Amino acid sequence: MTIPYAIDIEPRATIPVAGGSTVFPVRRIYCIGRNYAAHAREMGGDPTREAPFFFQKAADAIQFCPENETVQHPYPTMTSNYHHEVEMVVALKSGGRNIEAKDALTHVFGYAVGLDMTRRDLQDEAKAAKRPWEAGKSADHSAPIGPLHPVSSVGHPSRGKISVSVDSEPRQSSDLSDMIWSVPEQISILSRYFELKAGDIIFTGTPEGVGKVERGQTMRAYIEGLGAISLAVV
Ligand code: MN
Repeated sequence: MTIPYAIDIEPRATIPVAGGSTVFPVRRIYCIGRNYAAHAREMGGDPTREAPFFFQKAADAIQFCPENETVQHPYPTMTSNYHHEVEMVVALKSGGRNIEAKDALTHVFGYAVGLDMTRRDLQDEAKAAKRPWEAGKSADHSAPIGPLHPVSSVGHPSRGKISVSVDSEPRQSSDLSDMIWSVPEQISILSRYFELKAGDIIFTGTPEGVGKVERGQTMRAYIEGLGAISLAVV
């Protein structure tokens, strides 16, 4: 017999699947840091293939952004330096521990365009004080994401334009092929640290050109083959 919950609970965060009638239930959000060489340099890091690092966002930080629609994105509290980071998102349909890179793609359900929204001032303070990054990285609504495109329709994108513009001005523009660590490598390495499970999603890092957005501005994030999302910061 199932023991009832003592309080009402929020439903699990979900991401609608493109062109379908299903939604993808999100278990955990993992993010990889500094996975494009020019961005590693702009953040003061070394762009060589030193081991990638990971952090998590709360799963309910997801903000779903339908295609061909501009959604209102609330500017978060406690920051005056709120940054966009456009990233390809990988969604897992299965998982495991110590997954080998050659087997990693068998665990992928699909891909989406996402934004790792960041309170950069709070992240910088945390870095300087050697404190955790949550306040900078896991704000409410800090994981905007577009429809999930199943592997059956888009394959496994490993090249193609990735970009974000603010009020139509180009900010970030790169190519998925500029990733330092490939998607299979990311899944493999991550699975040595955590047991991955169905429902986990991975933000695969952002290219150079991260920058500030203000209330009243509109961001458009795009990945070739995965479409675009549009957010008005309010
Ligand atoms: Mn990021």
